[in-house]
Amino acid sequence: VFDVSKPWLNRVIERLPRAFLTAVSDVSFEVPEKSVYALVGESGSGKSTIGKIVVGLVPPTEGTVEIEGVDLSRETDAAKVDRIRSDVQMIFQDPYASLNPRWRVREIIAEPVKSRGGDTEGLAERLLEQVGLSGADAAKFPHEFSGGQRQRICIARALASNPRVIVCDEPTSALDVSVQAQVLNLMSDLREELGLTYLFISHDLTVVQHMADVIGVLYLGRLVEEAPRDTLFAEPKHPYTQMLFAAAPRTDVFGREVDPPKGEIPDPINPPTGCAFHPRCPLAVERCSRERPEMRSVDGTRVACHRAEEAVRRFHAEKAEDA
Ligand code: SF4
Ligand code: MG
Repeated sequence: VFDVSKPWLNRVIERLPRAFLTAVSDVSFEVPEKSVYALVGESGSGKSTIGKIVVGLVPPTEGTVEIEGVDLSRETDAAKVDRIRSDVQMIFQDPYASLNPRWRVREIIAEPVKSRGGDTEGLAERLLEQVGLSGADAAKFPHEFSGGQRQRICIARALASNPRVIVCDEPTSALDVSVQAQVLNLMSDLREELGLTYLFISHDLTVVQHMADVIGVLYLGRLVEEAPRDTLFAEPKHPYTQMLFAAAPRTDVFGREVDPPKGEIPDPINPPTGCAFHPRCPLAVERCSRERPEMRSVDGTRVACHRAEEAVRRFHAEKAEDA
């Protein structure tokens, strides 16, 4: 259970460059064991901030992160917190930046285990094979690998701690399209093999479509919609989610782009009043700028929109027109 249920960021933001973080509030979601939960949003939506909170890189000023039934913000047994922390590993967007260029791959992969005093004999070789590389690669340096191979090394390093949960922040968005699918397939296979749970962070709905069981859509630091993957793809109910689908690359017969995304993303530090999406929303009414919509259930989806039913009607009407 990840429940960051109150505005919390002000204290943290004073201490960190604001480019690193987006204020997150009222974000509450659960990731069942062995499932894949995808958080989707544009840059500035707060998705990376949430990932950092979950792995403990950033403390929430309010709210809780509960992993394996333990509330890490309240647990006082340091050994227990440490063990649970090592159950949660992170894979970052940029495999170039997250590997020490002066270390051999063997040292990179074994480091998290070595620092805990664990046995690292043959560990790197075994993990490299598990991620589709060769044991002999353990003696090489990061610069000797392609982007996709480096991300495999990052995955091997994450697996070294025998994690149960992996937080992946845009794990393939720095890679060539042709390589992306291979890395995603590897991650799917590892999930099956090892019974892993993923929190998968992405700006790209087509990427999460292959991976996710449940998708949460973030806008300016708030969860605006959450639904099982197939439900979300069949019937997005929030006008923002509908806009994300419309913004996915679509071209007409002349190769011209149709339905370009409308409007700029407002400053996440000073989000608009009421529903933060109202300046870009085609369905906005006066109430939307005044009153923040609460999350509510609509046909198996959680959605924060005053006019979700109207948005659904409009979505189907436009689809029928397109057909
Ligand atoms: Fe649009 Fe209003 Fe719904 Fe916000 S609450 S998404 S502005 S209709
Ligand atoms: Mg990010």
